[in-house]
Formats: sequence, structure tokens, C-alpha cells
Amino acid sequence: MGRYASVIIDIALEKLDRPFTYKIPAELEDKLEEGMEVCIPFGKGNTLRKGYVVATGDRADLPDDMLKYIDHIAEKSVNMEGRTLALAAWMKKNYGGTLITAMRTVLPVKKKMKELNYGMIHALVDEERLKNEINALNPIRFAARIKLYKALLSAQELPEDMVKDKLNISAAVLKTAEKDGIIKIEKLRRYRAPVAANSRYSAKTELNDEQRAVVDEILRAREKGDLRPALLHGVTGSGKTEVYLELIEKIVAEGRQAIVLIPEISLTFQTLMRFYARFGERVSVMHSKLSDGERYDQYERARKGELDIIIGPRSALFVPFERTGIIIIDEEHEGSYKSEKMPKYHAREVAAYLAERENALLVMGSATPSLESYYRTQKDEYRLFSLRSRFGNAVLPKVYIEDMRAELKSGNKGFLSRRLSELLTERMLKGEQSMLFINRRGIAGFVSCRSCGYVVNCPHCSVSLTEHKDGFLHCHYCGHKEEKPGICPKCASKYIAGFKAGTERMEEELKKLYPSAGILRMDADTTKNKADYDRILSSFANGEADILLGTQMIVKGHDFPNVTLVGALAADMSLNLSDYHSAERTFQLLAQAAGRAGRAERKGEVVIQTYQPEHYAIQLAAAHDYEDFYEQEMSYRELADFPPVCHMLTMQFFSSDVGAGMERAVRIADAIRAMGGEIPEIIGPAEALIGKLKDSYRTGLYIRHKDMKLLNRAKDAAEEAEAELATAPGAADVMLQFDFDPVNSF
Ligand code: ADP
Ligand code: ZN
Ligand code: ZN
Repeated sequence: MGRYASVIIDIALEKLDRPFTYKIPAELEDKLEEGMEVCIPFGKGNTLRKGYVVATGDRADLPDDMLKYIDHIAEKSVNMEGRTLALAAWMKKNYGGTLITAMRTVLPVKKKMKELNYGMIHALVDEERLKNEINALNPIRFAARIKLYKALLSAQELPEDMVKDKLNISAAVLKTAEKDGIIKIEKLRRYRAPVAANSRYSAKTELNDEQRAVVDEILRAREKGDLRPALLHGVTGSGKTEVYLELIEKIVAEGRQAIVLIPEISLTFQTLMRFYARFGERVSVMHSKLSDGERYDQYERARKGELDIIIGPRSALFVPFERTGIIIIDEEHEGSYKSEKMPKYHAREVAAYLAERENALLVMGSATPSLESYYRTQKDEYRLFSLRSRFGNAVLPKVYIEDMRAELKSGNKGFLSRRLSELLTERMLKGEQSMLFINRRGIAGFVSCRSCGYVVNCPHCSVSLTEHKDGFLHCHYCGHKEEKPGICPKCASKYIAGFKAGTERMEEELKKLYPSAGILRMDADTTKNKADYDRILSSFANGEADILLGTQMIVKGHDFPNVTLVGALAADMSLNLSDYHSAERTFQLLAQAAGRAGRAERKGEVVIQTYQPEHYAIQLAAAHDYEDFYEQEMSYRELADFPPVCHMLTMQFFSSDVGAGMERAVRIADAIRAMGGEIPEIIGPAEALIGKLKDSYRTGLYIRHKDMKLLNRAKDAAEEAEAELATAPGAADVMLQFDFDPVNSF
């Protein structure tokens, strides 16, 4: 605790005031904490006002005699606003940037809510009648209505927007059902969770022995005061969600609250229903489709204690719960838990901070834990729990690795290996579904000259353009679009053409090979709106297509009972990325995919097509062997000194003038070298991987050290130097951002 405190006086949200510096009287030095509410003399008349301490330190921006003392600590000094502000201050300290940016991240925008109406669908008929209707309807022509009725069998009330979004049932279908007297749509002022009475989801499950042991052990450790974060490593379908539900129930029964983080894309109807069924009205869901007003409304309900459980993406961490008792992070390895905007925080770290502060449990789960988290279990910072078998002893799918070089040698020039095309045909005959995914969008499709090697690049970004079906060349980063040149702009040769292997091209090829098959394509082009995801996924889930073709996004967290075949095309593409995560990403993707296919009743098969069949990431994903992968990958990380063995900080410089960012980066690097004490390793500055994006030049300065604290000091030194450099007369316009342990390369 230092001698000075930064105090924010007004936290009216539209107007985030700057903090004022106050001196801390000696008698308060031991008592004052960041986030506390204090009373301070303010203005000429020194009227006492309330404010929040957002930071303390040993240095002040003004001479001592110009500063006033804090008067006293307010009566109810530790309250929600203060805690939220302390979180913002913690984020600023750890991730850099301004306090205002951090506060905007953790506080909801206060917007006037326009009167919103939510529809709630009620079944007007009994179970018997619903079942009769289902049997009487033609399953192909009335698939949507059948789905609606089936959903109503599980819960008598369903929110209209959930039915529309997650089950893909149109307004027209609802209207018909209403006209037929089967349902009624009630308009409500506030979103309500469906009441779970009579729900097949609500039947409380009995945990199996393995699940029980994990729950008991986590709770026992807590009783003994061991609040180390828990990492739950469980294969897909082992019942991780059941473990979460059981823990939450226990914590909520104690009168405390739960935050559940889940990647948005895996927030399915089934998952939602499992939560609603168990906890009903006390659950609320946050998602990106909420308006600011709706989001604010949820924060208000949380603040008033009307909610026990919030489910949402990483920003759900900022819900103002007074009594947080548990934080769950499902699919903890997912990249979406890292913010790509300042402050570039990782949900795992913020959750750990909050859990410690609130004395809450932190439980993270995955079938393929991040190396970072698993490494921490090895160092006893986290506790490791495992679920080794799938529920009901369902078997893991059989995985084939197909060497595409060998295919070519034996005369197969197509993009499907002989095994995969055989299995696809077999599935279609049996009426089962298949998923095919290409590892990465835009891996190919770039246009180049076969005579001189010229590649057509985006004029605003230093990336290649991709040829699309509309005949134009597109930039995937900024949306730039131009006509395809007829002759090479450099050497005038006419051998300029697209190298195609994207999803669009594969769709065409598949249609030629299987003219009668129903094919759905899901990639960034077909999912421009959030609603597109749900539309495509639910149409596939309804059995409206035989094959779902897409980028890696189709593998994430979906559960299609009728899918018994998964094909990974160009599985090794992501191995070639110039990023130390590439083997880990490839392993996670393939292992997750390999966990998707098949069920207890119907065994699944997986085909991995690759040009590097011997690579350990591919071999071990096929063998469902996480531990071995961890060992092998860690020996590489140790050798090369990459995270999690050490920590990295990328300082990102953006400038509109070429050279300005590089110049600034050189000066900042000097400042870090001059900061005194131990100096971390400094790499660069260098032009970023993508040197120019949306007309902004990008330069990276890379800092590396085992000790995160040292990286933080480097950041402080950089910010201090930057404040001076940026305000010097004639200073170039450069933006500086910090990214600790980056998830994406810069
Ligand atoms: P994970 O989250 O590990 O992928 P889930 O919790 O979704 O696994 O469980 C997979 C399937 O098995 C779900 O349909 C779930 O309802 C079922 N299941 C898991 N554990 C149990 C249990 N103890 N009793 C009944 N069903 C279970
Ligand atoms: Zn050329
Ligand atoms: Zn561009």
C-alpha cells in the first residue's frame, strides 16, 4: 500500500470521470483497499464527497502540498461498484491501456431500455395430444412442427426467441400451431426461462461413480480450504456438464451464485434446457445478440440478487454478483476466451482473480485442455481431475489416417481419399449423416501467376486475395473486392489463375460426385450473420442434409446424434502456420472432431486426410491420447522456450505512416532496456506477420521471460515512455497495444 490513492468521484456511467489523486493518512494505510468507497474533500469549498479508490501507489502526479488527504473510509465501504472498479483497476494494471477502457469493459452501458416484448410459447394441449399430433404429421413435410411439439413435450413453456433461433422454427410455423389451438404465445415484459415442470430434462440424474468422485473431491478440498482452481480433463461425452450442474446446485443451495462461461457456438438448445430444467427462473443467458438495454437489464437483475446463475461468453464474468461461489469455464482451451480488444484479457486469468477475491471455486473443463492449464496442474497450481470413460460406456470412434501422398501415387487425383469416399457412400445408403471439414478457410484460393510467381494481394492488407464463385477476388480481412486480372499485372503472361481448395470449391466437387446428396456448407461466407450459424446447424440437425461441409467451426461443441462419419480434409494445413501453437491447435481440432462422431448405439468413424501422417499431433489425436501429446509438445516448448514454459508479451504498434510504428517501437525497446533491474529478452521490433491491415501498418515488439511480473514491468516502462513520446511536438500518430501470452500471432 502506497502513500497516494487514485479516487474516482463520479461513476455515472455515461461520464467516466478521470481519477483524482489523494494522500492517504497514516492511520488509514493499513485499512484502505482498492475498490473501497471513501469520503474526500472536493472542490474549493472542500465539501465531502464519496468516491472509489481505484489504485494506490507511491508516486503522485502533483507536488504534495497541492494534494488533499482522504477524509475517511465510507461506512459501507466495500460494495459492488467498488468491487467492479477494483476489477477494472486490476485489468488496467495487468493488461495495460487506460482505466477508462478497462471500466468500459467491466461496466455495462446504461441505456434506456425500449419496451421490449418477449414471447413465451405455452402448450395448450396435453402430452397425449402432442404425441398424437407428432404421429399424425408427415415427418418430412412437417419436420419443423414435429420438432416444436417434441420440444413442448420436454417443457410446457418455451421462450419464442429460443425456439426461433436455436430450433430454427419459423414464425409461420408458430402461427399455424397457434391457429390450430395447440399453442398460445404470450407476450411478456421480461424474458423468462421456461418453467421446467414435467420436463424430461429435469429428471435429476444420478452421477456415475467417476463423476461422483470428482464432485466429492472438489467439495472436500474446498472444505479443507484448498481453493486452487480445478481442471477437469474429461473425454467428450464423459459428463463434464453433469459435474458442473451438481457443483452449481450445491453452491446455489448455500445461497451463493454461479458464473458459467461457455463458448457461444456451443450454447445449444439441449445445453440451455439442461440448465433451465435444473434451475428454472434463476438462470439467465447472455449472448451476443442481446441489445445494450437487455444486457443492462440482466446486470440489474444480477445486482438485485434475482439471479443465481449466469451463462454466457467471457463477458459474463463481469456480472455484478454479490455472492459469487463458483465459476465454471467449459471448453477452457477455446481461443474465444481471450479478448482481442484492449484490455486483452484472458477469461481464465480474470476468473482466477475473481475466484480468489470472492473465495469461490474455479472449475475449468475440456477434453483437450490448453497446454497452459495442464502445465499448471503439473506444477500443483491447479488441481487435476479426470473423467476417463464416456457416459454409458459409449466407445470412442475408430480413426483412420489416410496419406494423401500415397493416394496421388496410386492415381487418385481427387480431394477425397478412397476410404473416405467409400465411407461417405455407405453413410448415404444407410441414411446416416457425415461432416467434412477443411482445416482453415483461405488456405488456398489465392490467385498467382504460374509464369512469374506474382500473387494478387489486397491493396489495404498484406494478405493474398481469394477467388470466389462470384468471379471477384475478395479480401477476408477488410472485405475489399476486385475483378480478377485477365493477364498477369507483372509479366503480362496469361497463366494467372486461382489455386482452389476452399470450401466453395469442395462443395462443387462433392455435388459432382454425389448429385443426389443434400449438402450444407458452413464457413465465414455463409455465416455472415450470427443467425446463419443456428439456421445451418439446426437444418442439419433436422436431417435436412446428408453432408455438412465447412471450416473447423463445424466441429466445435456440436452434438448431432445422426452423424457417424467425420472427415478432416487437409488436416495438416494448420501445422504449417508460423505460430508455436500450431501443433496444439491441430491436435485439439482433430481430437475434438474425433470425439464427435457416433453414439452408444451407433459407432462412429473418423477419417483424417493428411500429407504428414507421421506427425505426432495427428497420430496422437487419432489415438485419443492427450497425455502423450502433452509430453511431446512440452518437450518442444521447453527446447524452444515458448509458453507455458515462459511468458510472452507482444507490443503491437499501429500507424498510418509507413515507418512510424517501427520508429516508435525502437524507442520503446530502448526504454525497456533502460528500465533497470533484470531485463527480459527483447525480440524485434519487426514487421508483424500481417504487416499492413486495413491501411494500418503493423509492427511487433516481442518480450519474453519466465516471470510474468517482469513482463508487467516492461509494459509499465513502455507505457511511461509512450506517454512522453506520443505527446512530444510533431509526434507521429502511433497506437500501442499490449497482448500478454497471445492466442493469435501478430
Ligand atoms: P460432456 O460435457 O463431458 O461432453 P455431457 O455432460 O454432455 O458430457 O454428457 C454426455 C451425455 O451423457 C449427455 O447426454 C448426458 O445427459 C449424459 N450423461 C452424462 N452423465 C450422466 C449421468 N450421470 N446420468 C445420465 N446421463 C448422463
Ligand atoms: Zn506473371
Ligand atoms: Zn484487405
